Amino acid sequence: MKEQGKHAQTRIADVVENDLCIGCGLCSAVTHGRVGMVLTPSGSLRPGTTDDFSAEEEAILTSACPGIGAGPRPEPTWIDEGREPDPIWGLHGSMVHAWAGNPEIRYEAATGGVLTALAVHLLETAQVDFVLHVGPDPERPMRSRGVISRSSAEARANAGSRYGPTAPLARVVEALDFGEPFAFIGKPCDLGALDQLGTTDDRVDALCRFRLTLVCGGQSKLTKSQALLAAFDLDEDDLALFRYRGHGNPGPTVIETKDGRTFTKTYQELWEDEASWDLETRCKLCPDPLGEAADVSAADVWPDASPSGDDAGFNGIIVRSEVGEALVANAVDRGDLVLGDPIAPREFDAFQPHQVRKKVALAARYEGMRDAGVTPLTAEGLRLEELGTRLSKKEADAEQAGTARRMRALRHD
Ligand SMILES: Cc1cc2nc3c(=O)[nH]c(=O)nc-3n(C[C@H](O)[C@H](O)[C@H](O)COP(=O)(O)OP(=O)(O)OC[C@H]3O[C@@H](n4cnc5c(N)ncnc54)[C@H](O)[C@@H]3O)c2cc1C
Ligand code: SF4
Ligand code: SF4
Repeated sequence: MKEQGKHAQTRIADVVENDLCIGCGLCSAVTHGRVGMVLTPSGSLRPGTTDDFSAEEEAILTSACPGIGAGPRPEPTWIDEGREPDPIWGLHGSMVHAWAGNPEIRYEAATGGVLTALAVHLLETAQVDFVLHVGPDPERPMRSRGVISRSSAEARANAGSRYGPTAPLARVVEALDFGEPFAFIGKPCDLGALDQLGTTDDRVDALCRFRLTLVCGGQSKLTKSQALLAAFDLDEDDLALFRYRGHGNPGPTVIETKDGRTFTKTYQELWEDEASWDLETRCKLCPDPLGEAADVSAADVWPDASPSGDDAGFNGIIVRSEVGEALVANAVDRGDLVLGDPIAPREFDAFQPHQVRKKVALAARYEGMRDAGVTPLTAEGLRLEELGTRLSKKEADAEQAGTARRMRALRHD
């Protein structure tokens, strides 16, 4: 019989020990900063300690921590209407090309500027008082920090994808304490944790009125960015700007130094070697990289996930709730958002083949976790078992064995 769950994630200490923490920052928020997020030598953000939580804090954290599980936030009306979730993309309404109505936002942002355009729309129409998201740390621009944007200018200043460790939830309790309506933008794992936090804190559903996310291929460790600096023979203290992408779609990665030098790499150059991505363990096991707990999820739409050069900026959006449909419709009416052609789920598969491959591999990878004695992430409603049947036995065995080997190595078992 298989050994299961010797290293079950029943405490935050287990999550960190099993390397399933994604560094979302909730540990810091729930302890009001008493447990800070620290950068590990291997380039990940982790809670500074795991043995200083009160019983109440531990209970809140283990009910929400994305290292323990994930799930969709089903739209009740749509379920009542009998809509079926797509096996890959989940429950959705509109799937359509989209981009920011403001050409400057479209240019500056990561892809087509949908997320920033929606943030700006919500702020300018006073539907929210602020947006909780992330942006560059002005003191150390290669790194990211949680930000609270109260104006369009602030939201725009924090546009763009940040490809290193981020802790968007580190300020969520501060945000809730304001008692004001807000929108949240984060990765699917951050959003899932926020959703689960709502099970222990009523203010989440009362105040977080809009939840926006990005389709996510994974979070690199800071070592990925540090390797780029090393290639240019630069020190982090030299930096005045580190823009991962944007200013074009995808736009180059741009580094500027305090003494006025500029260094660039194209998106293709930065990401062509998958072995150098330095992704977190949680990402390789991510049950919801497509943002099923969001109102709107935004993605790139390059054929085979590979840009052939820069373009004007086109997102694909997946709308997942009535709140999301109304937001998109209102943003289009006001000229903040432009919609293009609809996208069918199988077209989306072709834009995101890596996501499809991961979704179908996860059931086998979770078996590998069990083989290594680590309890898999909970993923109820995310169809992993059903998708796992698409793998041949040979493929499934290889995924299972590879994961078991990696998990044992991580734990030094
Ligand atoms: C780590 C990562 C991996 C990604 N992988 C894929 C992928 O596999 N396939 C795909 O289609 N798209 C992927 N994207 C999404 C893509 O890069 C764009 O973010 C998305 O298309 C939205 O574009 P936009 O122009 O609307 O965003 P923008 O208008 O530029 O807004 C981006 C928003 O996201 C927030 N944000 C940026 N980085 C982070 C972060 N690391 N954590 C939390 N919030 C953040 C910013 O604060 C900002 O509000 C990834 C993004 C990230 C950050
Ligand atoms: S993923 Fe978030 S909640 Fe879980 S251990 Fe890490 S910082 Fe804490
Ligand atoms: S792949 Fe999943 S776990 Fe990794 S950063 Fe993206 S949403 Fe989070």
